Order: sequence, then structure tokens, then C-alpha cells
Amino acid sequence: MADFKTHTLVATVISGGLGIAALATGMATPAEAFCYWLAGTLGGLLPDIDSDESLALRIVFRLFGALVAGLLAFYWMTTLPAWQVVLLAGSGYLMVRFVLLWLFARITVHRGMLHSLLANLLFGVIAVLMSYHLFALDARLAWGIGGFVVMGATVHLLLDEIYSVDLSGMRIKRSFGTALKITDWQRPGLSLLMLLCSLGGFWLSPGASAWLQGLDLALPQSLGHVLESLRVSGLDMLAVDVQSVQDVLAWLRRGWQDLRAV
Ligand SMILES: [Zn+2]
Repeated sequence: MADFKTHTLVATVISGGLGIAALATGMATPAEAFCYWLAGTLGGLLPDIDSDESLALRIVFRLFGALVAGLLAFYWMTTLPAWQVVLLAGSGYLMVRFVLLWLFARITVHRGMLHSLLANLLFGVIAVLMSYHLFALDARLAWGIGGFVVMGATVHLLLDEIYSVDLSGMRIKRSFGTALKITDWQRPGLSLLMLLCSLGGFWLSPGASAWLQGLDLALPQSLGHVLESLRVSGLDMLAVDVQSVQDVLAWLRRGWQDLRAV
């Protein structure tokens, strides 16, 4: 497997390059490109947070602890005296950095659940939700950050897999196939839970309704196109009753609209 330095370097270079590309093509402001770069680099560390001794684990929990401390200070700043705010923020940080980290390290297994594509999806969804709801960033930027986290984490898995092939001797190490996987199939219950959390997160994320509306518009249109091309190709000559196909399509369309109305 690739070491911490390699992971950080590759994630930094790739997300930096993509961030600059987004800036150059006018898809991001300099501040947004900087956020993307950070998100991609952090994403590159996330799959290894299940390794109990890893630097990635400590860095991520330090960042998370700082975030919790900052939020506690922000919310209590105006209602509590300063020394209590400092105490509260400090204990929040220590809770995350030591107690939560200890629990997390006990629960997770290295290269288990969290070293998978499904986990990357969950990391991305969490990043979108935090960017939008916690940091009040706009939906487009939040999705961009989520995308960079997923990209960085996926590059991490690929890199681990590449490192499991010993190129000098052209032989495959035993770890081959353990790094890049969809999920940990040994744990179907937890995999399902992760999938449900991702879907739930997607539902709570900004712009999901806009996405569904787009689908709502696109679906009847694409059905119409299919029907039209069938007609053009002369398939309706082959005893295909166009009227009944149209009826079925109209019924499907109504059903879809009803579903949307719920
Ligand atoms: Zn790894």
C-alpha cells in the first residue's frame, strides 16, 4: 500500500490541478478553487482513517475537533462568559480528539468498510451536507466540494491498488484486490446501513429537488423520443400497436407525476 506521504502528495497534486482547471475555465472563483483543492486533499486521506495508528486518522480527528470547538464557541459566544466559552470549546476538542477517536479506532477495522467506493460516496454526501447546512455555502459550491472529496478518496483507493502490484518483479502482492472495492461484502448489514445513510444524505442535500425536477422534465421527453424513433424506424409496421404504447406511456407519465406530487 502507498504510504501517507505518497497519498497526500498525489491527492494534493491532482486536486490542485483540477482546482486550477476549474479556475481557468471560469467554473470557480479563486476562493472556490482553494476549497476544492483542500477538499480533494482531505478526501485523499479519508480511506485510511480506519487504520488505528495512521497519521490520517489523527489529522482528520484534529480537524473535526477544531470544527466542533469552533462551533461550540460560535453558538455560546454571546450568552456565556468568555472563560466558560473557552472551557466548553476546549472540552469539545478533547472529547473529539481523544474519546471519539478512541471509540472510532476500536470499532473500525483497517481496509474494512471505510476503505471502499461506497464509503467514498458517504464521505462525499457528508461533505455536501456539512458545506451547505453547517458552513452555509451555496449549493453549487457544496456539490463541488463533495465531488472533490469523492475524487480524492477514489484516487487513494486506486493508488493502494497500484501499489499492490510489484512492478519490478511483475508479481502481485497478497493485498491485491483489497484496496479498491465497492464495499466490504463480509458485512452486508453495515454495507446496507452505509448505503441507506448515503441515500438519506442525498435526500437532505441541497438541489436534490432541482435534480428530481430535471428528471421529471427529461423522462417524458426521452420516452417521446424513443417512441418517435420507433415510428421512424418503421417498427410500428411490425404489428406494434402505437396507440397502446402511447397509452402505456401516458399511464407511466401520470404515475411518475403522482409520485412526484407525494
Ligand atoms: Zn489506503
